[in-house]
Amino acid sequence: MSDSLPEGDSPKKSAPALGGPPLQLFSIDSDEPRGALAADPPLRPTDEFLEELERDSERLESATPQEILRFAVERFAPRFTMATAFGPEGMTIIHMLAEIAPQTPIFNLETGYQFTETLELREKVKQRYGIEVEYKYPETSVQEYEAAHGGPLYQTNPNQCCFDRKLRVLHDAARGQHAWASAIRRDQSPDRAKAPIVGWDRKFQLVKISPLANWTKKDVWSLITSEDIPYNALHDQGYPSVGCWPCTRAVLAGEDERAGRWSGFKKTECGLHSS
Ligand code: SF4
Repeated sequence: MSDSLPEGDSPKKSAPALGGPPLQLFSIDSDEPRGALAADPPLRPTDEFLEELERDSERLESATPQEILRFAVERFAPRFTMATAFGPEGMTIIHMLAEIAPQTPIFNLETGYQFTETLELREKVKQRYGIEVEYKYPETSVQEYEAAHGGPLYQTNPNQCCFDRKLRVLHDAARGQHAWASAIRRDQSPDRAKAPIVGWDRKFQLVKISPLANWTKKDVWSLITSEDIPYNALHDQGYPSVGCWPCTRAVLAGEDERAGRWSGFKKTECGLHSS
């Protein structure tokens, strides 16, 4: 495997938010077939197939998230999967999948740095829906990883830490799948604003389905409230977006909902949803 890794970026925790060098873009480059290309049968992103996805995406623009999930299940199961960090959007999709296709394999990237409150949601999902979310782990424990790098890498090079503890793990989890569900909303960031409902994810070589692309935060929380969907207790403590504990802080009044993620770094995404 010849993955290209991000180069180190200097610590900026105490620097002004706009200071410091730009983060390096990085990608998972590999000669091995992966994602849908490693599936049996493989799913190849031919021009014809990409055009088909584009047509599906346009057709589903005005569909409900449940209709989009039904399409995904009918078209791609049993090679349809979902990764979740147990955010409000992810919990909403899990709630829908519990009704539509509870057999859908769902996994969580267990970096070793998640909040206790986040891990507790796995149990709540099991109790409420009977769905067992599978943990996918990095190659090394937190202790081994920090020892190998002379300390916590999230303080000095969060891009590489996310790459090693999230992207590589998703890269492996995607092997043999045809499609995955993402819980992104277009109104979350300029980068996410371009997300199609159905598209080809070049990074992971999978069809990416975003059933909540057209939903707002209010839509998500309305459903959570009306259906009493379990959610992360940290959302009631000033954390609208929850990631790993070292890279998440509560937000202040008036701040963007993702302002508490990698605060003090230019980094805004872990890399799972950026192209
Ligand atoms: S969010 Fe932070 S702790 Fe988690 S993998 Fe990324 S850099 Fe590491």
